[in-house]
Amino acid sequence: MLYLVEHFYSIQGEGRYVGTPSLFFRLGGCNMRCEGFGCVETAPDGVSVVGCDTVYAVDRHHFGDQWQGIEDWHVLLGIMQSYDLPDDVDVVFTGGEPLLYAHTPQLVAFVEYLISRHHRVTFETNGSVAVDFERHRVYKSCVFALSVKLSNSGEPYEKRVRPEVFGRIITQADEAFFKFTVDSEALEREIETITAEAPKCQVMCMPKGGSKAEVEANTEATIELCKRKGYTYSDRLHIRIWDQNKGV
Ligand code: SF4
Repeated sequence: MLYLVEHFYSIQGEGRYVGTPSLFFRLGGCNMRCEGFGCVETAPDGVSVVGCDTVYAVDRHHFGDQWQGIEDWHVLLGIMQSYDLPDDVDVVFTGGEPLLYAHTPQLVAFVEYLISRHHRVTFETNGSVAVDFERHRVYKSCVFALSVKLSNSGEPYEKRVRPEVFGRIITQADEAFFKFTVDSEALEREIETITAEAPKCQVMCMPKGGSKAEVEANTEATIELCKRKGYTYSDRLHIRIWDQNKGV
């Protein structure tokens, strides 16, 4: 069983494939809470829940009743076919932490179908959940956007930084890149430490901000960081255009 929080067809807003038309599946559940990000969302029962900007896809206890349980991968295919999509459209699994489901039969079967039909499949992951590339070889053909969490998430170091996990993803998958949101020099040093523990891999940095105004204000500093360190700048197009993260 896997849990689907929402699906939407949009353009990729961040990372290596920014601007690419993509069908998003947001899966429910995460192995972290990231309360350090301090976003607050009101649950259906009226409780204010603190977490990251997708806390509604993380907190099963308060939001899980709104998630759709998927027992057959053809349900995901049916959702895909309900959209008017171009051939070979990109498919993105995000969350929550989508790799929690990496070994569930429903996800494996759907990803095998997508790869056989030449879709590019991207997982937006926190890089702390291991993938068994030998058992499910299809994941070697996928793209992994590794948003390893930094100290501002509030999660303990040993839980959020697992070099043996993201290192294996980098060496086994066709494509992987780091994707960080930067807002201070201290975080810049953390990024250096984390990426130094990894095999060679592209590092992308994005301006901090949950609103268009914040992103715009932090853009130049992020570009300067990229110029200093040789990182690649990534915009946050969905926030710049729609001023929010949800359902776009
Ligand atoms: S790892 Fe990502 S999805 Fe999970 S709680 Fe942290 S920011 Fe949210």
